[in-house]
Amino acid sequence: MENFNSFNLSENLKKSLKGLRFTKPTEVQAKTIPFAINKEDILASAETGSGKTAAYLIPLIQQISTNRKVSGIILTPTRELAQQVADVAKLLVGYKSGINLGLLVGGASINNQLNQLKKYPRIIIGTPGRINDHLLRKSLSLKYFNFLVLDEADRMLDMGFGVQIDQTLQYMPSERQTLLFSATLPAKIMQLSKKYLHNPERIAIESDEVLLTNISHDILNIDHNKK
Ligand code: AMP
Repeated sequence: MENFNSFNLSENLKKSLKGLRFTKPTEVQAKTIPFAINKEDILASAETGSGKTAAYLIPLIQQISTNRKVSGIILTPTRELAQQVADVAKLLVGYKSGINLGLLVGGASINNQLNQLKKYPRIIIGTPGRINDHLLRKSLSLKYFNFLVLDEADRMLDMGFGVQIDQTLQYMPSERQTLLFSATLPAKIMQLSKKYLHNPERIAIESDEVLLTNISHDILNIDHNKK
């Protein structure tokens, strides 16, 4: 696929993509975006470096900008990943959109998060533990959150977040769109998918294209005995 034009994205998103210098969709983006914009569930095996973050953020932001009734929540296994997703989301949403974001991760100030929630964010990104804290203390309502992303789902289950995921989903409307991204698809991920996804479009990446733009390479010459 040559560029993002075939997806009929909003002018705002097109501008943000240009700003990010994303000219050509990656394989996971080309395969996911058309279905996800069409409100279909997605089960994707895609690793970090494939461009998976924009593969789910672009359809979410496109839907949010064209439909006042769409709000999305993204669950990630770690604070660092949540922060990275929030950074990309901010750039894609743009500064003038009026769409607020909430970043709800453990180890960060609750008061700051309560302030974020008072602004009714339409995109929430966070880790399962802290999201559940907010749900239990009723500072967060997911009643109108009808777009869910489980990012790095295999890692979340490995870290023992299965229970919190189950709990979080009880607070969400059953009529929603769910996108599950996972590097691997072991039996427990397939079970999770069966439980929470409806007729998902299966996305698999054939190429070994990875865009690890944050990795630098260095050569260090050392003596054999110092290896
Ligand atoms: P991710 O797999 O989402 O962590 O993305 C890996 C890296 O690829 C990040 O540094 C992104 O900024 C970059 N990236 C994602 N999509 C594109 C694209 N379509 N064109 C160029 N770079 C991209």
